[in-house]
Amino acid sequence: FYLLHRFSVTSEEEQIGFGLLIQDITKEVEIDTLKDNLISLTSHEFKTPITTIKGSVETLLRNDVDWEPEFKQELLEGVLEDIERIQQLVNDWMDISKIESGTMYIEPRQIHADKVIQESIDRIPPVLQEDATFQFHNEVEGKAVFYADKERVQQVLLNLFTNALRYNDAVHKEVEIILRKNEEYIIISVSDNGIGIDEKHIERIFNRFYQVDVTATRRSGGTGLGLAIVQGVMEAHQGKINVESSVDTGSTFTLYFPHVGKEVNK
Ligand code: ADP
Repeated sequence: FYLLHRFSVTSEEEQIGFGLLIQDITKEVEIDTLKDNLISLTSHEFKTPITTIKGSVETLLRNDVDWEPEFKQELLEGVLEDIERIQQLVNDWMDISKIESGTMYIEPRQIHADKVIQESIDRIPPVLQEDATFQFHNEVEGKAVFYADKERVQQVLLNLFTNALRYNDAVHKEVEIILRKNEEYIIISVSDNGIGIDEKHIERIFNRFYQVDVTATRRSGGTGLGLAIVQGVMEAHQGKINVESSVDTGSTFTLYFPHVGKEVNK
């Protein structure tokens, strides 16, 4: 983004020409856009769950009605879900600001890739696992050990697993995880048989707030921050992520973690 300044050049009170000054304001525009997005995120994304929580609690507090226990249970489960949603938003938001300010610190420890993958699969919320199968292939001979921040690796994997199931219309959702390694990296790929991503969107899915289909994503509870965080976490590990996808067939996201991340901690 550029701002064009036009100014006159005068000599002894006489205009002898004019000049143009081109100012690059890309950074300013980006920051403004981020702020605008955060504001619309706050108003839209927080308002809905807060309104629902308020309604449910007000209902439960009415002492002129004797609610059925099942009804109370249902309302409270809804409240819990809404609170979890707000919690997710706040956490994502905090991670984004850490990435933005370059303070996403990681605590690398020696971890076993196969274990961390299995643990992340176990953490997928049961509702998302309905009509879905996970296959995990460990193609590494010997140990698949690397240095990374375990919590962050699980966060990245869980994010990819969730997306693989969310953006998926298949009657039976299939997610395949393959663990490999080469000289430099521990490589984890996550493939799905979901809706895929059109080539024209693929570059931008790692941008904050970018969503291919805003209404569909909102419905499924997304904020457009997940992959931006994933990328930030991979960069903090001096690793990388890449994606291959084709519409209606599915997507493969591949993570590359350097083996020797010991001295990576910034
Ligand atoms: P969110 O899921 O919260 O919208 P993400 O940053 O995780 O945000 O993803 C950005 C967008 O990329 C999603 O809105 C979706 O359109 C697309 N996307 C991500 N993962 C997949 C996937 N496995 N298959 C198809 N589309 C995907």
